[in-house]
Amino acid sequence: MSKFWSPAIRSLVPYTPGEQPKVLNLVKLNTNENPYPPAPGVTEALHAFPTERLRLYPDPDAGKLKNVLARHHNLNAEEVFLGNGSDEVLALAFMAFFRHDKPLLMPETTYSFYEVYCDLLNIDARRIPLDAEFRINLDDYQQDNGGIIFANPNAPTGIALPLARIEQLLQQNPETVVLVDEAYVDFGAESVIPLIKRYPNLLVTHTFSKARSLAGMRIGAAYGHPDLIDGLQRVKNSFNSYPLDMLAIEAATASMQDDAYFRETCKRIMDTREHTTAALTGKGFKVLPSAANFIFVTHPERDARELMQQLRNENILVRHFTRPGIDQFLRITIGTDAEMAQLIEKL
Ligand code: PMP
Repeated sequence: MSKFWSPAIRSLVPYTPGEQPKVLNLVKLNTNENPYPPAPGVTEALHAFPTERLRLYPDPDAGKLKNVLARHHNLNAEEVFLGNGSDEVLALAFMAFFRHDKPLLMPETTYSFYEVYCDLLNIDARRIPLDAEFRINLDDYQQDNGGIIFANPNAPTGIALPLARIEQLLQQNPETVVLVDEAYVDFGAESVIPLIKRYPNLLVTHTFSKARSLAGMRIGAAYGHPDLIDGLQRVKNSFNSYPLDMLAIEAATASMQDDAYFRETCKRIMDTREHTTAALTGKGFKVLPSAANFIFVTHPERDARELMQQLRNENILVRHFTRPGIDQFLRITIGTDAEMAQLIEKL
């Protein structure tokens, strides 16, 4: 604590991402990265990039990438927003849309960054418990609010909500922004992007860090009604008006141009997830039904924290959360088949 800190940050507890070790011979299943490299076209685009162009500022509109994404999702470019990772996009959305006179509704167990933003921005977070099966029950979100946010699939549970249920929520809640964080949507959940044309209060965030294997580049997007995108743009322009750096624009554009590779790697991860789920279930673990690139698992007789430590000693990294209610679970990222075989053997 420093006397120079503003009161707003004195009690702030920053989010700590999972360990990023310097050594490379680890089986790294702790931060939901993709085990496969980005599409080959990304490597080609980066190699071909004329570095002399880096002396210039990037396109302040990132029009090339916006157009590609708009076409991909059947939207207009005015319905697309870009930022440095979905974390930045989320932060801007919190600043732009969530009201301070009413609580922001969010699941009790969800992406822990949301709470950090609430603390930082003085937004009152109302955390709504999951049901006994760790699912989000949207019936509990029918209350006066200053906004609603949840991840679909949720993190760290991996459980997805059906589109029809989210549409019901949108019908019941027309007055405040509903933000659906679809960081993991490509691994088996249904995107709500098709609902954007009908619900001007729906904002959807995506990332290139998971299904697109570009976590090292920090590329995120939001999709919504042009008024919402305009709101994000106003906040963004007040900080750093360039949506993305030049290399990120090139990489993301190239990634979007190889749909076959994208579908193939997502399918491989989903297949590996199903094998791993079956194997761990056979070993007495309870595995929540996941539509993401990770699984959330618990064992009735084994302490999760100790298991995490034991795996760490075997050079396998998984994630353990100390939050009460989920402290007997491990979140395990889906790696390659060979990595998962190692994990299963050690468990
Ligand atoms: N949303 C969720 C639910 C996540 O788990 C993550 C990754 N930690 C993010 C958003 C942020 O991803 P990124 O900033 O890499 O786009």
